[in-house]
Amino acid sequence: MSLVEVANLRKSFGDVRALDGISFTIESGEWIAIMGPSGSGKTTLINILGGLDTPTEGRAVVDSVDVGRLDEAALTRFRSEKIGFVFQQFHLVPYLTALENVMLAQYFHSTTDEAEAAEALRRVGLGERLAHLPSQLSGGEQQRVAVARALINHPKLILADEPTGNLDEANEETVIRLLRDLHSEGHTILMVTHDPSIGSLADRRIELAHGRLAQITVYSSEDEARFDHVLEELWLCAEIGRRAKLTRFHSLDADPERTIQRLAVLGLVTVQDSEVDLTDRGTRRARDVVRRRRLAERLFTDTFSIANAEADSQACKFEHIISPELDERICSFLGHPKTCPHGRPIPPGPCCTSAESSAKKSA
Ligand code: ADP
Ligand code: MG
Repeated sequence: MSLVEVANLRKSFGDVRALDGISFTIESGEWIAIMGPSGSGKTTLINILGGLDTPTEGRAVVDSVDVGRLDEAALTRFRSEKIGFVFQQFHLVPYLTALENVMLAQYFHSTTDEAEAAEALRRVGLGERLAHLPSQLSGGEQQRVAVARALINHPKLILADEPTGNLDEANEETVIRLLRDLHSEGHTILMVTHDPSIGSLADRRIELAHGRLAQITVYSSEDEARFDHVLEELWLCAEIGRRAKLTRFHSLDADPERTIQRLAVLGLVTVQDSEVDLTDRGTRRARDVVRRRRLAERLFTDTFSIANAEADSQACKFEHIISPELDERICSFLGHPKTCPHGRPIPPGPCCTSAESSAKKSA
């Protein structure tokens, strides 16, 4: 079962339809960016999922709890047990220290534990600021206190409504890095942001317009190309009978750890003792990428007589835009070649197998 299930969710304020029938699910461990223009319903959505508001119609289920069915007391318990909030305005209590602000969240949850609260602040890099009041902290530091507060009760879901909206660039970077770390440790994060470059860090982007779902984007084409390069590299390693170390990808990708981690989340690779292996699904995708690449190389050298180096670099761009249909047409056009111009095997496709069997029949 998904961690979050939103089904036909509606919320009206008088005759304003803040949410007008939206549905989606979120799996545990995902990082989702909610995007869309001002007034499109982002905050309303976050508030309902976090039990700060209730739906007019439809369902919002978080960790098997139907938020719309809870009374006031149950909502309070739901919030403190399941949700970690990070708001644009940090909402720290001004006369409490950083440490006390975190301990206050513990208090609402169960009992306070000063050592644990101090550890949470150390975790966000504020070990030296425990006794500071919010007014003695920078915006970024205040937001990091808020993140520590959000994490202290081990919530199932972190909800962040424009967490960097009030921060300068340097502080924004610190907070985003923190969220990235949390995501890579397995936390589920739902974050509202206006900034496309922050949105592109998420696994998926959910775009709202006028309270409706405008679009769900999984990965950008740059991401997909990055995935393909890593998968291709893994295929090449397997071809020469080697396992790939994580360090191998450092020259290949600007942020190899993140790319590999995303591939692992997608079930395309497994990582063990800093060695990376293709899963069965990963092997199939890698095989398709390698096939497209080598067919493109053949096409460029044989048909267009393009010199090797140039053919290589063109094939590299081409492999990302060849559809399965075009792949088969190129392959048939070339007469189902067995090797690339460098003599490496071209993994056969469905067209090769059927061409072979019909050749056998006629023989
Ligand atoms: P966003 O966060 O995307 O900017 P909101 O969810 O805050 O959008 O608001 C969506 C729409 O609902 C807006 O038209 C807003 O004016 C309206 N709205 C939000 N909260 C309330 C409220 N408490 N009372 C009346 N209207 C509201
Ligand atoms: Mg908002």
